[in-house]
Amino acid sequence: MPAETHLPQIEWRAACESGACPVCHLAGKRTAKYLDSLLWEHVTDREFRYAFRAAGGFCQGHSRDLDSFRDGLAVAILHRDILGDRLEAFRKKKAFKSKAPCVICKERERVEKTYFTLLSESAGAERAAFEASAGLCVPHYGKFLSQVRRPPKWITEIQEGAYRDLMRRVDVFIDYSAFGRDADFATLSPEDKTVWKELARALRSDFP
Ligand SMILES: [Zn+2]
Ligand SMILES: [Zn+2]
Repeated sequence: MPAETHLPQIEWRAACESGACPVCHLAGKRTAKYLDSLLWEHVTDREFRYAFRAAGGFCQGHSRDLDSFRDGLAVAILHRDILGDRLEAFRKKKAFKSKAPCVICKERERVEKTYFTLLSESAGAERAAFEASAGLCVPHYGKFLSQVRRPPKWITEIQEGAYRDLMRRVDVFIDYSAFGRDADFATLSPEDKTVWKELARALRSDFP
């Protein structure tokens, strides 16, 4: 069996050890690589240029990734088209409407789907790695449920069990934050005193 066959499994296990939602971790890494290859290799690719233009450029989030990009020429060539289309829309006093999704978001969706499948079919070392991981963030678990036809029970138990635990800790935090309960609040662990940060993090996806 060629070595590449095992690559997604190796990446998955490493992502599970990252301390973050493994799908956020992998989607972030893969889309950053994709953006890099788009700008280096596909600026002259007509199909890509068309899709980019139809989308009206990258979405707000992925546009921000360009700030740290080194190849100014690729960014200039691609975005010149976009500014041209906007100027044309302004001239006609019409709002610009995109006709396609952001190409990076589309790639991210594809990558997420790949890892949802890998997770739903995982056993042995991959399953153990997920069991020891931070688990999926709430947005990714929602997507996982909508895209995987029969989500394995062991995954739904881990995920929903973890959210219920988080909910219980948040309830205690709220109760102990009430006026006159300083003594109770002082008994909370450092993690429980900042559980609101964990809650905010769990409810969002991270795409570094
Ligand atoms: Zn996530
Ligand atoms: Zn995007």
